[in-house]
Amino acid sequence: MVATTERDGSTWYECEECGMLFDDQGDGRSCSVRVNSESGRLA
Ligand SMILES: [Zn+2]
Repeated sequence: MVATTERDGSTWYECEECGMLFDDQGDGRSCSVRVNSESGRLA
């Protein structure tokens, strides 16, 4: 899932899985960073 957030007067798209910010919603949706569910850390 991707959440929108306002920062520096611009809208960013935040990956709800890893917290990375993207300037394009499509990039956020295709984010390949996954949280390791076992350790709770970024893979
Ligand atoms: Zn992500």
